[in-house]
This record gives sequence, C-alpha cells and structure tokens, in this order.
Amino acid sequence: MTVGLETRLREVLGKKTAEALADGLGLDTAGDLLGHYPFRYAQRGDRTDLGSLAIGDDVTVAAQVRAAVKKTFTPRPGKGRGRGRGDLLEVIVADEGGKTLTLTFFNQGWRAKELVAGRWGLFAGKVAQFRGRLQLNSPQYQLLAEDASDPSGAIEEFAGTLIPVYPATAELPTWNVAKAVHTVLGLVPSPPDPLPAPLRERLGLLDYGTALHQIHRPESHEYLGAAKKRLKWQEALVMQTVLVRRKAESAGEAADPYPEGGAILDAFDARLPFALTRGQQEVGAEIAAELAREHPMHRLLQGDVGSGKTLVALRAMLQVVAHGGQAALLAPTEVLAAQHHRSIAEMLGDLANGGQLGAPTEATQVVLLTGSATAAQRRPVLDAVRTGAAGIVIGTHALLYDGVDFADLGLVVVDEQHRFGVEQRDALRAKAKKPPHTLVMTATPIPRTVAMTVYGDLETSRLTELPAGRSPIATHVVPYTDNRWMQRTWTRVREEVAAGRQAYVVCPRVGGDETDDAGASDKRPPLAVTDVVEELRANQLSGLRLGLLHGRLDPDEKDRVMRAYAAGEIDVLVATTVIEVGVNVPNATVMVVLDAERFGISQLHQLRGRVGRGTHPGLCLLVSEAFEGSPSRERLDAVASTTDGFALAELDLEQRREGDVLGAAQSGMKSHVKLLSLLKDADIIAASRTEATALVEADPELKAFPEFAALVDDLAQDRGEFLEKG
Ligand code: ADP
Ligand code: MG
Repeated sequence: MTVGLETRLREVLGKKTAEALADGLGLDTAGDLLGHYPFRYAQRGDRTDLGSLAIGDDVTVAAQVRAAVKKTFTPRPGKGRGRGRGDLLEVIVADEGGKTLTLTFFNQGWRAKELVAGRWGLFAGKVAQFRGRLQLNSPQYQLLAEDASDPSGAIEEFAGTLIPVYPATAELPTWNVAKAVHTVLGLVPSPPDPLPAPLRERLGLLDYGTALHQIHRPESHEYLGAAKKRLKWQEALVMQTVLVRRKAESAGEAADPYPEGGAILDAFDARLPFALTRGQQEVGAEIAAELAREHPMHRLLQGDVGSGKTLVALRAMLQVVAHGGQAALLAPTEVLAAQHHRSIAEMLGDLANGGQLGAPTEATQVVLLTGSATAAQRRPVLDAVRTGAAGIVIGTHALLYDGVDFADLGLVVVDEQHRFGVEQRDALRAKAKKPPHTLVMTATPIPRTVAMTVYGDLETSRLTELPAGRSPIATHVVPYTDNRWMQRTWTRVREEVAAGRQAYVVCPRVGGDETDDAGASDKRPPLAVTDVVEELRANQLSGLRLGLLHGRLDPDEKDRVMRAYAAGEIDVLVATTVIEVGVNVPNATVMVVLDAERFGISQLHQLRGRVGRGTHPGLCLLVSEAFEGSPSRERLDAVASTTDGFALAELDLEQRREGDVLGAAQSGMKSHVKLLSLLKDADIIAASRTEATALVEADPELKAFPEFAALVDDLAQDRGEFLEKG
C-alpha cells in the first residue's frame, strides 16, 4: 500500500493510538498528524522550565533525577479510608539551573530502579503544591537516552538534543505522539511539495519533506529555524494568494454605479453645521469615486473614536440613496444601532421624513431593525425596506434574518469597531441582487500586518485627525488601595456633576446570579455593576442620579437608560462595556474604570473615547489593584501615557494570542495558520503578499502549480468563511 498525506492514521498506526489521536486531538490523516507541530522543544539542560511552573498546570518538563527517597505512607486518621499504609517514593528532579520539583509515587517503589540520580527524563503531570513544595503526583514519564548518540536502552524518539513536546492529552502523552509522528514520517518521507519550485529555490527555502522532518525531529537549532521559516512561508503564501485572488475577482464583478453627488447629499452637505476635516474630504472623495464605478467597492475605513467615520459613511449612504439605491448599516450591538439611528435621523432632520407631508422631495426614510422588535413593530419597517421607501436601514444582526428583503441594496456599511470579525458581512451582502459596495468602519487602528491578513482583500483608508474643537483626554492610573486617591476620584465625579456634566463608571462584570468565575481561586471576583451602583448610591455618590446599564437588561430598558443619560436625566451611568462602542454623549466628561486591569488595552482606549467628545476636557481614571511594575500595571500605564491609537493597537497585538487576534470568525484561518505570527512575521507576510500578487497576475488559475492551487482552493472554499465571499 502506498501511504500519502491523505492516508488515514487507522491504516498505518495501532488502533488504540489512532483512536486517541482522532478523539483527543482531532487528527485523522497522516497529513493531519504531520501538521500537528511540537509547541516547544525540551532539552537536556533546560534552565527555565521548573522555575515557571504554575499550580494546576498540566506540564511536560525535561529534568534530571537528583535523588529518590522511599518513605512509609500513613494516612491521617479519618482520611484515606481503607487506603492503609503504603510506600511513598519521592523523587527529586532538577533542571540545569538547580530548580527542583518533587515527583511522588505511591506503592511503586520499583521505580527507584530506573529513576536513578543523573538520569534525564520527560515528566508529565499536573502541578500541585504540598507543604510549600511544587510536585507532580504519579507523573507519567519517559527517560531519555544516556546521551545523544547512545542507543543503549534509549528511546529512539529522544535521541536528538531537541526533544519535541506536543500538545497532548492525558491518554496520549507527548512521547506517544512523537512515536506516531516518527512512524508516519518513515512512511511518507517526501510528500509532494506544494510551494512553487521556482519561488522556493529563489528564496532558499527547505523542501517540504525536509521541513516536516526537521520540525518534528530537529537535528539542530539551525535546521529547526529553517524548517519553521519554510512552513511559515507556505502558510503566508497560501493565505495571501487567497486574498489577492479574491480581490482580483471582485474587481472584475459588476455592481450598480451611483454617480457622485445627488439631491439628498447636496441638501445634506448644504446644512452641515461644520466643515469636513481634510481627512473626511479626502476619504469622502475616494469613496464617492468608487461608488460611481461599475465594480463593487471593498473598503476599510479606519479612524480613532470620534474621528468622524459615521459622517463619512452617512455621506456615502446618501450618494447611493440619491440615485435610487438603499444603504444598510450593520452595528454590533442594539445600543449602538439605536444610537446610530438616533444620530443619523437627527443629522438628516427633515431629510429623514420621506413620505411625510411637507418633507423635502429628496427626503428618504431611516429605519431601525433590531432583534428585540416585536412582530407588530417589525411589519411596517420590513415593508419600508421591501418597497424601497426606507433608503437607510440601520440594525443589528437582525438585518440578516430571512424575511428582511431589500428593494435595491446598493451599499453595506459595517460598523465593526474593534471587532476583528467578518461573519456578518457576507450574509447581508447576499441580500443584494448584484454585489453591493461595502464599507467597513473600525475604530481600532489596525496594525499593518493585521490589515494585510484579516482585511487583506479590502482597500484601506484612514482618518488621522480629529475634528476641530475636540477636547483632550487626561488619563491617570489610580491605586485602588490608596484611600486618598479613591476619595479624590469620587470627588472629581461630584465636581463634574456639580458643573452640569456627566460621568461613566465602568465595571468588568454584571453581577447578580452570574457565576462566570466559578471554580476560580481565592481571588476576589471582578467588581459588578449591580453591586457597585448600590454602593455608590449609598455612599460615595449619594444624592446624585445614578443609572445602570448592562447587556442583560431588556432592550427597552437599555434604550430608556441611554436616552435618559443622553438627555441629562442621569448624572452617572454605571455600566459594563456595553458603552464601549460608539456611544456618544458629548456632555460626559469623566470616566472611572474599576478593576481596570481586567480590560484589554484597546478596550480601555475605546472606553475613554466616550468622554471628551464635547467642548469640555475629558478625564479618564483607571482604578486598579495591580502593583506598580507588574505587567498589568504596565499596560494601564501605557494607556495613560498616550492617546495614539496605533501605538496602543500594536501593543495590544503583542499581548494577545494569535487566535484572539484572528477572532472566532476566522476559524478557517486559525486551523491554517499554525506557525505564522501576525506580529513577529511581518516581513514574511509582506513578502508573501508581493509574491502572491505576482503569482496571481501571471497565472490566475495557478495552473502551473497544481499542489499549491489545491491548498489555496482548500482554504478559499472549505474554510474560507474568514473572508468575504463576493
Ligand atoms: P466616529 O464614528 O469616528 O467615532 P462620529 O462620526 O460619530 O465619529 O463623530 C463624532 C462626533 O463628531 C459626532 O457628534 C459628529 O457629528 C462630530 N463630527 C464629525 N465630523 C465633524 C467635523 N468635521 N467637525 C466637527 N464635528 C464633527
Ligand atoms: Mg462612531
């Protein structure tokens, strides 16, 4: 039988191993297993491992036996029912730096024969603590060969100096995975190489078979580095080819053109109470020109909170409406959708009174559609959408439901804010007869590498300046344990309220019946809005009008609270991060974030963008228990030290795991991108973009490289939900 990457593991491995690989790790084929890369490499002489163990972690460590001691084990009275007396074997192991760990074995005294001083091994188990010492109870282990070249009693898998450590399961420790990989590598020594050969040779990359051998069983650090580079290149090139091809395809699609200008847009511009910023003019001109073309626009609009993106989007929508099309604005939350609806209707004035007596002839209707609307509320809205009477349709994911039919959807605007997700764009776009124009707005500045991957099929524009008259925001970190500072914090809130302004107090948790930290340690749970609002009402902020807002309120109540706050009927809004995106109350000047270290950098930056939106300077106080110098405290200090959204976005990216960056919507990409780091491999990503562009230009079907084309198609079709499908 010939074995290839598609051969099922059941056919080449023992039944038990194959089942454990399939059930525990989801690996079914030889290719799956060879693509299950070690997540690190242990070495004889590892220094750092034992110093950094955390209680409760499942670990696999390389260490050297120092001593083995047999003790007699007597259960404490009343405990260990029926266990009786027994032998306890304690084995002390150490890393090269002398950090030690105790292994315990009950009634397995015979193990002392093989766990002799000087022997290196891999030890796997859950880290526990006993009388102040870290230990592994009854760990699984595998002893290493006496030295790299000595085969006596050696487990062949561990003959090299770099020992692969795999993501493993309890049933399948890393050495069994290694053994299975070894077997399969022997059966498939040189699988066909998917990278185009000319490119591989020009760039001096390892061939595929060698790269797989060297990543699983590296001969040296140099080979390991070369193997990783080659495999990363493959990941990057496939991904960029999908993006470049998709971009080329959509450039060839037909869309309805909407000429520049038009009655309702001109009327709107004529009444704008302020001048557009230079950025708004430039980006506006870019978008206007693209809407006028016969191919769909795919554009990403980045701009910090308050930079005036919504206005740019509204002008684009009006250009489409002016020529008989409809525009949909998709918002991530009900609060934000309702607010967009309110502020857009307000900005339009009687231009939003389409169909009413006395409205200007160019007027249209602006409707709101959210999941919480009742059937009776929905009916007229759906009618207006279906007949085209509503030129502008604003909503949440409810816009995506069946039964929402557009007369002529020409432009889709997605207010994505800081969410790196695209799951909803496609569904909405599918409601248009021809591919609509698409504008994605995001408030988090996106680092270049992310823009090139997650949004790699979009053109990008940036709004870099804030509209004139925007006030600066001062940010300070407040130590929670410092009473004077805390008092000062609440005094500042009172002062602002006394001056006729408003405040936000943000907490990480809703509270009530929630058990989101269930099973967690002795740490205090994060502060909850439902508790904090009572505490503040009774004490620090007594006498002020406090409001409560969180995601579990019913939508009517949320809307009522937001309206009351916007109308100045509430002084202090105690809220969760539901206010993080886009909420706009210019009279709010102070924001107090409690347990600030629980929030991400970008989140904090978003949050503070809620204040300083009017003529009065904003103040943001980040209250935290994090110690000075701790990583959490450093993040807060970083947020306090700059309002440069790009700098903070880069920092945020550094601190997040890749999977989080790619987001849940990018599951396809996640399983494809195993080694490539958006942050560290910026050069490979940029270079592979150039190569992919050249490849697709020369040979759009990739006919010359069938193996490569197959990988590209696989990502594009089966798992392509991470991108737009035009
Ligand atoms: P973003 O969506 O980027 O967060 P918005 O479009 O919501 O920003 O704008 C924030 C506020 O600034 C709104 O009240 C808006 O009316 C106002 N605004 C927008 N553009 C300008 C401008 N050119 N001059 C003055 N104010 C502006
Ligand atoms: Mg906005």
